Parts: sequence; structure tokens; C-alpha cells
Amino acid sequence: MGHNILEENGYPCYCGKRGCNEQVISGPALQRFYLEQSGESRNLKEILERYHQGSDPYAAATVDRLLEYFGRAVSTIINMLDPDAIVLGGGVGNIDLLYTEGFERAKKYVFNDRRLNTLFLKPKLGDSAGVFGAALMG
Ligand SMILES: [Zn+2]
Repeated sequence: MGHNILEENGYPCYCGKRGCNEQVISGPALQRFYLEQSGESRNLKEILERYHQGSDPYAAATVDRLLEYFGRAVSTIINMLDPDAIVLGGGVGNIDLLYTEGFERAKKYVFNDRRLNTLFLKPKLGDSAGVFGAALMG
């Protein structure tokens, strides 16, 4: 899913395309967006803290960008596969807002009359679940 195109004419990606999910809603992409908007470099944790404090418009814009594009990205999967659940892996999956506000944004974009029955779940193995999977296959 990381290399599905999400933003037309977006940032170039290491895979050779532009505007992939990785270049829009990954932690590094969100930090880059915040830096471009504010002129200040902050990590995602700090950006989220500033968003929750409600006093940083750049943090608000960055989190809104995450929620909006997350909603579009995940609704594409839901419209195609109608899964019972989606497990949100990677560092971004630790963001609690995705399970509430992100879920609401996805509702905007699902085809099924804005009814969304898919569960959004955290990986039981944390954000290293992919590494455990790779080790099991080795
Ligand atoms: Zn890519």
C-alpha cells in the first residue's frame, strides 16, 4: 500500500513514482511537510503534541493533511476489499487519532453510503510486526 499513488505530482519517491503514500502520510513525509510550512524541524511526536495543545497552526495543518490523506488511502482499500479489519502498521499506526478522526475521514470516502463497518486495529506486535514476520519466513 505504501507505493500506491496518493497525491498527483507529489514528492518523488525512491520507488521511481511520485506522490506515493510513503511520500504523503509516513512519519518522515509529515515532518517534511511541517518543516516546509513552519520553517522549523520537529519530529512527529512533537508535531502531535503541538496539535493537541491547539496553539500551532502548522501542526494543525500537518495533522489535517495526515487525516485527510489517510482517509482517502484507506477508503480505497475498503472500497475494493471490504475487509472486516485493517491493522495499521508502522510508526504512524501508533497515532491514536487515526482510530477516531482517521476513521471518520475514511467514512467520507467509502462508497457504501458512508457506513463503515471495518475495524481499525493496532498491531499486537507493535510497529515491528513486519520484522517479526520477516524473521518467521527466514
Ligand atoms: Zn513509491
